[in-house]
Amino acid sequence: MTEAITKKPKTRTVHGTLPSHVHRDPDSNEPWQCNSPYCTDIEAVHPDNGGPGPVVMGYEPWRR
Ligand SMILES: [Zn+2]
Repeated sequence: MTEAITKKPKTRTVHGTLPSHVHRDPDSNEPWQCNSPYCTDIEAVHPDNGGPGPVVMGYEPWRR
């Protein structure tokens, strides 16, 4: 696991110790890191730019 991204997004999108992957914001073209196990698309709008945000393991909305 590496922290290769230099631009830190404001909203935290990596939680816990699951392996992370990098999304690309289709609007700003900026990469952002996330480690939700539920992502299906690499192209995803960052939560700070209006995206829904990754689903955090243990806080799945369908389990609440
Ligand atoms: Zn993700």
